[in-house]
Amino acid sequence: MRLRVGLTGGIGSGKSTVSRLLADRGAVVVDYDLLAREVVEPGSPALTRIAERFGADVLAADGTLDRPALGSVVFADAAARRDLEAITHPAIRDLAALREAQAPADAVVVHDNPLLVEMGAHVACDVVVVVDLPVEVQLRRLVELRGMTESEARARIAAQASRDDRAAVADHLVDNSGSEAELVATVGGLWDRLTLEGGS
Ligand code: ATP
Repeated sequence: MRLRVGLTGGIGSGKSTVSRLLADRGAVVVDYDLLAREVVEPGSPALTRIAERFGADVLAADGTLDRPALGSVVFADAAARRDLEAITHPAIRDLAALREAQAPADAVVVHDNPLLVEMGAHVACDVVVVVDLPVEVQLRRLVELRGMTESEARARIAAQASRDDRAAVADHLVDNSGSEAELVATVGGLWDRLTLEGGS
């Protein structure tokens, strides 16, 4: 039986690392950062609707989406952000469903989605995995590994679902406050539990 696993966590929490480790074990990973780019490629219905709603200023000269321009519009305006999400989220969901349908019938399919909770997509998953770490550790990694300023990192964290919101819907909390070696061991144990719950 195919097992649909939702994987999420805050910015820089270690989601990509966890999904890579699960892929190494045999999971089929659906990467929502990639899907979010794919659905707004030139010629896509979503990009046409975005240009209709936000104007040609959000398109670059080569016809691709000018992400910084769009970002500056929606960052400051919650209604504009909702309009954007109403265009992109259904397209992302459809593409994710297509990718899942292409996976083997007994696959563990990991939906690596930073906005799993914000999109309400956790309800459609068989199992929800949340990568968790204290905000202080998250901040330190964003500053040291991503070169963000502390205030930038705090603003990015504050714009997402909270640690508590994610924990409330988690079937498995993956603690990533320790070393990467510890994370490898934790994900090994997680894989064993997931394959017991369904999948290959
Ligand atoms: P984003 O939200 O930006 O997509 P993410 O949640 O996918 O990030 P990763 O890219 O997996 O997070 O990890 C963020 C950074 O933290 C990477 O540089 C990664 O190598 C590092 N990292 C992950 N886990 C640990 C750990 N346990 N100890 C130290 N560094 C770690």
